[in-house]
Amino acid sequence: MEKVILAIIFALLTGCSVNNTPSEEVQSINEIKNEVVNMNSDLESNLNLAPTIKLNNGIEMPVLGIGTYSLHDDICVDSIYTAIQNGYRKIDTAYMYGNEEEVGKAVRKAIADGLIKREDIFVATKLYPNQYDNPKDAIEEALKKLDIEYIDLMLLHHPGDNDDKAYKAMEEYVASGKIKSLGLSNYYIKEIDDFLPKISIKPVLVQNEIHPYYQESDVVKHIQELDIVVEGWYPLGGRGHQTELLNDETLLKIAQNHNKSVAQVILRWDYQNGVIVIPGSSNPEHIKENISIFDFELTEDEMKQIEELNRDEKHDWY
Ligand code: NAD
Repeated sequence: MEKVILAIIFALLTGCSVNNTPSEEVQSINEIKNEVVNMNSDLESNLNLAPTIKLNNGIEMPVLGIGTYSLHDDICVDSIYTAIQNGYRKIDTAYMYGNEEEVGKAVRKAIADGLIKREDIFVATKLYPNQYDNPKDAIEEALKKLDIEYIDLMLLHHPGDNDDKAYKAMEEYVASGKIKSLGLSNYYIKEIDDFLPKISIKPVLVQNEIHPYYQESDVVKHIQELDIVVEGWYPLGGRGHQTELLNDETLLKIAQNHNKSVAQVILRWDYQNGVIVIPGSSNPEHIKENISIFDFELTEDEMKQIEELNRDEKHDWY
């Protein structure tokens, strides 16, 4: 109640909508709820909260989060804290990134400082194939390192030996409430179709490489038709590749049309395609920029122009 009153006072003072509702409906992602469900006590961050999408298990997840690959130590903690201050409510980490402890530390700090409550933030991590043999220990290790009561989403990082065994162990943790949702990463059409019959709880999300030069439209369509959300890694082309992508002539022109950056145009293109994004950055300006994509809309023609940039050019080996 107190939060609602504060939010109304804030809206009256600033003229902002309490719901932070984007002005347009995006047809291809009609399941994305254009309203913010997570009101919290940090009034400033309400300006930039991402909309949420309802997963196939009924849980709401923000459509945009921060990726943490290659972020470590204080830089990792500070980047996540900055992201939370700027309205991010989703974080993507993994055992393989070696930074689950830092992610947990940043989340606990944000909770202690009153920026968020635990239920306001959505934390995803991943088991690596070398953990699939002994999945319960691996899950316990992730819970311990994160130390945030429960994990919102756990993914298998890659297909591999015993991936079904690992997934079934994760299913047991869903039953006990220690993990809320399950997903997969780097599973394409054949891998997904082979895997689904082996398990009981449908994945809510598949995380794969997706950017304008590697669009995987048939894979995206296949996954979305299964009522599974698609999330794109390397949305900006990935480290070492973003210079070319962020200087692409077509994207630069579209960015100029909207007075936005190329990064924002790419992230918006994903959003309008119903693809969740987790751009990585430790730069506070970029962190802020990357979530400021809910106040403009790409035209059908611009979406088509970006579609035509596809080169089936993968920027990593898996
Ligand atoms: P990315 O495509 O998000 O690019 C990140 C690079 O772009 C960084 O160098 C960053 O400094 C720069 N950048 C970020 N915002 C910018 C902006 N607004 N303008 C200019 N430059 C900007 O690549 P990423 O971070 O490696 O990938 C995103 C996330 O996806 C990772 O952090 C990780 O969480 C996840 N991921 C998952 C897998 C997987 O196998 N599941 C693989 C790779 C990455």
